[in-house]
Amino acid sequence: GEFLASSLRLPVAKYGGRQTVTVLAGDGIGPEMMECIKRVFSVSHAPIDFEDIELDSRPGAGDASMNNAIIAIERNGIALKGNIETKFDDPTVHSRNVELRTRLDLYANVLHCQTVRNVPSRHKDIDIVIIRENTEGEYSGLEHETVPGVVESLKIVTRRNIERIARFAFDYAVNHGRKKVTAVHKANIMKLGDGLFLRVCKEMAQKEYSQLQFEHMIVDNASMQMVARPQQFDLMLMPNLYGNIISNIACGLVGGPGLVSGMNIGDHYAVFETGTRNTGTSLVGKDLANPTAFLRAGVDMLRYLRLNEHAEMIEGAVVRTLEDRQIHTPDLHGSHRTSEFMDSVIADIEEQMKSKH
Ligand code: ATP
Repeated sequence: GEFLASSLRLPVAKYGGRQTVTVLAGDGIGPEMMECIKRVFSVSHAPIDFEDIELDSRPGAGDASMNNAIIAIERNGIALKGNIETKFDDPTVHSRNVELRTRLDLYANVLHCQTVRNVPSRHKDIDIVIIRENTEGEYSGLEHETVPGVVESLKIVTRRNIERIARFAFDYAVNHGRKKVTAVHKANIMKLGDGLFLRVCKEMAQKEYSQLQFEHMIVDNASMQMVARPQQFDLMLMPNLYGNIISNIACGLVGGPGLVSGMNIGDHYAVFETGTRNTGTSLVGKDLANPTAFLRAGVDMLRYLRLNEHAEMIEGAVVRTLEDRQIHTPDLHGSHRTSEFMDSVIADIEEQMKSKH
């Protein structure tokens, strides 16, 4: 669609048809999940080279490590990333996940939440794309205590950023065959900020995307509708914080943090990761984590790079493992191990490779 590597400002590091990708494995289960991605890429002969970057996520680590990671992503244009843990008891430590998205101006966060046959979920037939503004709003990170006991947190929105996320969402809908766009807001209370968001979305829908059905919904009602009748939604367009919360509701509805991937896309760079920010610390080394979300992040990345054949091979293997062979890890109420899941995915890809040669 609209977001192609060819629009990158600088030529990306690409040698002999191979694409180099920055890997920030992150904390918790990140590193072991990255190994799963590397294995499926290798078995499916995806022409990808990995540049592993160590990111020091400890509080007080300083900026050098983060700067190095940013430069690596700017060089390659593309990154795969695990969650970087943020301790929230220290007000001086800001989220590195947020810092990365703002510094690289990855303004669009895209999640595709879809129920998977034979995976237990609270509702059937959910198929929602969630597009969230990823750089401003409540995440501007500007807070101060004016006098003791009084804190101001600044929510900053700009017409420019609203316009580009709205355009991204409408274009995405057109290019991916989505029929209806629902803009989610709280303009009844945040008259100016969310009012601007709603107005920009409405105007753009009317003037430039009249082939799409457009509706708008207040975030509290949207939350209720999500848990009561999520099938009504097709593509949801949201400001930053509401998008974060609704994304987590959507992921929870279709099977939890182990299942859904998320893309962060800007005009110049793209970072692929899981849909929700979970680290899974208690699962590390136990062979219990569900690798689906990470594998799908790898599939999203392959599609973005137009390596559709490799993407489909890996996606097909994951889907058949979940749907047909019903190899489900404990988060999906199954009793299978990560390694059993991976064995099934790898065997499936090998089978496909054989039939190709
Ligand atoms: P934990 O309780 O594992 O230390 P945490 O406190 O860091 O995790 P999160 O990382 O936010 O919490 O995860 C929320 C829940 O989702 C936890 O129960 C975690 O084990 C589970 N979880 C996260 N990712 C996965 C995954 N890929 N597969 C299975 N379960 C997962």
